[in-house]
Amino acid sequence: MTSKQIDILVIGGGAAGLTLSVLLGQAGLSVHVVDPAPPKPLKDTPASGRTVALMNDSMNIIKAAGVWEALAERSAPLQTMRIIDISRPVHDPVRLEFPASDLGFEQFGYNIPGGYLRAALYEAAQAQENITIHKAALESYVVEDGRVSARLDNGTDVEARLIVGADGRASKVRETAGIGTAKREYDQSAITCLINHSHAHENVSTEFHKQDGPLAIVPLPGNQSSVVWVETRARAEELMGLKPSDFESALQEKMQDLLGGLTLETPPESWPLCCIKSKALIAPRTALIAETAHVMSPITAQGLNLSLRDVAALAETLVDGARLGLDIGSAGVLNRYAKRRRLDIETRVFGVDSINRAVSSHSKTLKTARRAGLKFLEKVAPAKYLAMQTGLTPHMDQGRLAKGDAL
Ligand SMILES: Cc1cc2nc3c(=O)[nH]c(=O)nc-3n(C[C@H](O)[C@H](O)[C@H](O)COP(=O)(O)OP(=O)(O)OC[C@H]3O[C@@H](n4cnc5c(N)ncnc54)[C@H](O)[C@@H]3O)c2cc1C
Repeated sequence: MTSKQIDILVIGGGAAGLTLSVLLGQAGLSVHVVDPAPPKPLKDTPASGRTVALMNDSMNIIKAAGVWEALAERSAPLQTMRIIDISRPVHDPVRLEFPASDLGFEQFGYNIPGGYLRAALYEAAQAQENITIHKAALESYVVEDGRVSARLDNGTDVEARLIVGADGRASKVRETAGIGTAKREYDQSAITCLINHSHAHENVSTEFHKQDGPLAIVPLPGNQSSVVWVETRARAEELMGLKPSDFESALQEKMQDLLGGLTLETPPESWPLCCIKSKALIAPRTALIAETAHVMSPITAQGLNLSLRDVAALAETLVDGARLGLDIGSAGVLNRYAKRRRLDIETRVFGVDSINRAVSSHSKTLKTARRAGLKFLEKVAPAKYLAMQTGLTPHMDQGRLAKGDAL
């Protein structure tokens, strides 16, 4: 079955691909989204152990897609960021707190369950008359005669002016476009779960810096939090093998009883960690966004935040091009997108990789330097203010959607 030529074919209906599709559909462009594994309706979506902490500029992009109302009650504000360094003996932890109010914000952002976010975006895409959704996988595509001709694995053919790769880390689009990657495997896995705890979290997100990687406890509504616990792959496997009550004891001990007694709300899940960066963001009539272009350690919670800035930049570039009557799949339009995103992606991927290696390092010199840095920030207010501004409020590539303006 062949459809008439459409504007944009988005491969991958994860959070990034769906946000882009909804924004472009709202702006009047014709979009087809392809994903073999669509989510359940939001009302039937079970709680899962993975959440995303989205900063205020990302929240503006999510709000522009019209899904915040459905998510607000299921999410918690991040009002204070706390770091506790326990890489040295526990009697000498370094503690640092960054309240959002010090920067004049009510909160840095929100912690949103990832499954709910995707389900809400999927429903918003279904409600858009400019969007067609295919439950299928991309099989192949070619670029010829000024258009993209794609074949899906259910036999459907789609012709478009542009194809967007939002199909994640093992991207078929990236491979077909011949775009290579640079990859670093970490000897680390992140264990995620939701926990119930006896003490209130007071909307404080806590990151423990420990020997083999960080442990983050991020607030959710009520006395519930999400956990991202990074360990070496071998230790993570051991923890995953524990019975639930032993896992709860191990976690409570690692958290130094920070939130009192705890029980698991969802079973622990384990994610092997790596860093991947694609060598280009564009190819003829092809653009890459999100994890198709960059995968990072979850430390500092930057992954989807960076991806949503790709989404906003591509949406703004394509909509501006269409308003000017340009061919939205042309090299001129795509170059504008790639040029706009280059510095933000390069610096974030490099920065997160460096932080991950410093925080997880066994080197005594690095550990001492890190603790000295945190102690310095603890005492020197202007330095702390600067660290908060650079670490928690991205300045780079704040387009109109991230600022809260219309597309
Ligand atoms: C433990 C952990 C914690 C994290 N915490 C945070 C956080 O707090 N804040 C934050 O900003 N980020 C966080 N991240 C990162 C964030 O979760 C990811 O960046 C984000 O989920 C990736 O979304 P995506 O849409 O790019 O990719 P995906 O969610 O991987 O979506 C890709 C989609 O493509 C589809 N697909 C694959 N192949 C094909 C094909 N051939 N044809 C069609 N479709 C295809 C798949 O079915 C999938 O639905 C975390 C990551 C981890 C591992």
